[in-house]
Amino acid sequence: TNHLFNGLTGPGLAKPQRNFVRTACGLSLSYGDTEAAAARYANALIGLGLEPGDRVAAQVDKSVDALILYLATIRAGGVFLPLNTAYTAAEIGYFLGDAEPRLFVCAPGKDNTLSAVATEAGAIVETLGVGSNEGHVDGSLAQKAACASERFETVARDPDDLAAILYTSGTTGRSKGAMLTHDNLLSNAIMLADFWRFTERDVLLHALPIFHTHGLFVATNTLMVAGGSMIVLPKFDLDAVFAHLPDATSMMGVPTFYTRMLDDERLTGDATAHMRLFTSGSAPLLAETHRAFEERTGQRILERYGMTETNMNTSNPYDGERRAGTVGFPLPDVELRITDPDSGNRLPDGEIGMIEVKGPNVFKGYWRMPEKTASEFRDDGFFITGDLGEIDKDGYVSIVGRGKDLIITGGYNVYPKEIELAIDAIDGVVESAVIGVPHPDFGEAVVGVVVGRNEMREADIQSALDGRIARFKQPKRVVFVEELPRNTMGKVQKNVLREEFGNILA
Ligand code: ATP
Ligand code: MG
Repeated sequence: TNHLFNGLTGPGLAKPQRNFVRTACGLSLSYGDTEAAAARYANALIGLGLEPGDRVAAQVDKSVDALILYLATIRAGGVFLPLNTAYTAAEIGYFLGDAEPRLFVCAPGKDNTLSAVATEAGAIVETLGVGSNEGHVDGSLAQKAACASERFETVARDPDDLAAILYTSGTTGRSKGAMLTHDNLLSNAIMLADFWRFTERDVLLHALPIFHTHGLFVATNTLMVAGGSMIVLPKFDLDAVFAHLPDATSMMGVPTFYTRMLDDERLTGDATAHMRLFTSGSAPLLAETHRAFEERTGQRILERYGMTETNMNTSNPYDGERRAGTVGFPLPDVELRITDPDSGNRLPDGEIGMIEVKGPNVFKGYWRMPEKTASEFRDDGFFITGDLGEIDKDGYVSIVGRGKDLIITGGYNVYPKEIELAIDAIDGVVESAVIGVPHPDFGEAVVGVVVGRNEMREADIQSALDGRIARFKQPKRVVFVEELPRNTMGKVQKNVLREEFGNILA
């Protein structure tokens, strides 16, 4: 089957009594229940006038029914478009105006403030709350679904038809809508389930948001095609994580999950001995975190690399060495090369350049941005990721940072990651971010933003770096902050830092 809905639910429905999700409140849904609930929601969507290819935008809190809404939209032939729950009404207005969904689903109570922007974009507004986590009907859409039939004939779609539009995280600028097809999502899910050995015996502890590719596709799709099950937590909460860890076999996280677990004494070898797999992605996992986690638990976190536009591109091996500080090898079916960012010419292994990828996982293009789409693809179909990286002699890929974060100072390239690693190695430093800021002589100058364990002085950092890295790479200024600005996915927001410290050398 090529239809994403059938592909996702097929293996689980082979034994429909098998559990698909359970919640902290003790609610549980089998694959059979899930299929029936998706039918109810799909009927409700059709009742609201949904036609094949129509977008269903949803800014809803994480819940069982929010997952069902995703499945139902696909099943009804629609295009699912989840939106970050942190977006304000003005931001929602932008996204709805851009995506022109048939339907906009928001949290009950939020419809008052969001109706105006939704109506302006031509969308019908319905609500969906989190009551389903406790088995309640919650919201106008949930009510419509509750009264709808449990029979639904899945609307036919081609593998190349859109299943979702996912907006990128907006780390480097305005979020772009990535158009993902049925085949993009299904092929990646099947491949990941196989590569990471997910089976029907797996229980994933799911603490990620579901408006992002990590929690929605990497986690949910992968577990579904394996016929496994998930413990769905509303958000990452240490108490809840440690309470449910004993029932799980695996967890997918962003690096901040792991640093926060490491700060908790409940993280022990005993507490994790039964776990089969911990994975990390969405932001760089410090090699130090990888080592500390292994030291404490004996578990080697598996780091992988992906993006909204491409699903997953690389992964450390399941068997074999999971090399800290790298994102592993290109996944089966994914071609990956490193090129000179300007010429596009391929670079030899060991040199830093632009990461380009090609494969069934790579998206169809940016929604309503044909020029942008054209400029991000090479003539031979490779997608220019915007990430800089290198391949070592053993084939492991490392990410050095984003092309947009590269600093050019006095004509020299400085890769922030190299400087950050040097700063992080200094005694008393918790973490750091290195940015380029405008400088009258050098064009850009290197600035270090540092989180220190105790009081530290600028001169401490500068003298520690002296002789360790070339003078032109050393920060012209070092500033100290309480913590680095991060978004929900744990990504450091360097644009926020550039805004804050941009004038420091002007
Ligand atoms: P925008 O494209 O809007 O600026 P974004 O790139 O942060 O935002 P996402 O698609 O959520 O939006 O994130 C993909 C990016 O996350 C990758 O391009 C890469 O920079 C980063 N990333 C993902 N996994 C890893 C990883 N394991 N190590 C380092 N970086 C990673
Ligand atoms: Mg991006």
